[in-house]
Amino acid sequence: MVLFMATRIIELVEVGPRDGLQNEKQLVSTAEKLELIQRAIDAGARRIEATSFVNPKRVPQMADAEALCASLPQIDGVTFIGLVMNQRGAERAIGTGRIGQLGAVAVATDTFAMANQGQSSDDSIAIAHDIIKRANGVGLTSQVTIAASFGCPFEGEVAEDRIIGMAKRLADAVPVEVALADTIGVANPAHVVRLVTKVREAIHPLPVRVHFHNTRGTGLANVWAAIEAGAVTVDAALGGLGGCPFAPGANGNVASEDVVYMLQRAGIGTGMNLAKMIKASLWLSEIMGRKLPGMVAQAPPFPKVA
Ligand code: ZN
Repeated sequence: MVLFMATRIIELVEVGPRDGLQNEKQLVSTAEKLELIQRAIDAGARRIEATSFVNPKRVPQMADAEALCASLPQIDGVTFIGLVMNQRGAERAIGTGRIGQLGAVAVATDTFAMANQGQSSDDSIAIAHDIIKRANGVGLTSQVTIAASFGCPFEGEVAEDRIIGMAKRLADAVPVEVALADTIGVANPAHVVRLVTKVREAIHPLPVRVHFHNTRGTGLANVWAAIEAGAVTVDAALGGLGGCPFAPGANGNVASEDVVYMLQRAGIGTGMNLAKMIKASLWLSEIMGRKLPGMVAQAPPFPKVA
């Protein structure tokens, strides 16, 4: 498998503006979010999770979804994803006219599904199905993420067969891909290889996207394992922003610049400009008023630049 990697291209989805910021207590202004999005685009990002259309009382950081969308730049080849949990959210996202791709979420376990979006796991599959169909019906694209694919904060281990079954059912609605998310950062590379391989076979020809949090330090190893197992798209957030309310004190998403550094050094293309990503990460660190978990931005460049 590794032999083929030299020519491979892995797509990065920048999720910082939504998953990265969602659980930050400090409210980031719409203008700052727009600058984050612009910096990601300038660094090469072509799919960006811009915001979510959820209850602003539950997620105050995303209360400006419509205002943000109204100011999103229109650039050929750049797609903005709006995360939605139900039909109401889907209609809000569609109504902006600026969201090109709806992101739906199905949750692997009942307890987490109830806590996260007030649905049973099966209901979350049915609702995600409807969201995908609705997006496709109005000429948008759609993606779907299976949250807690590698473990649940309430129920513990999640059976692989459950995830494979969910992926198949979701694939029937024809999203652009199905993603496996390690929402609470408990995955390990061996588990990732197994599950990505099985899901890839189950949903072929649809591709697999992966979403990892570095809560326990396994984030980059999991990204590598997923790519070896055939995942083609990786979610990541500049600076490694993005804790989870169910994993207190947690590190965030895998850092976009760390993922790109690793892949670039391994000869795998991403189309991203690492120097610009590092600048964006350092800028974001200033906005957040603290050092962010991403590591590459804090280290000297390598190899040395003249
Ligand atoms: Zn996440």
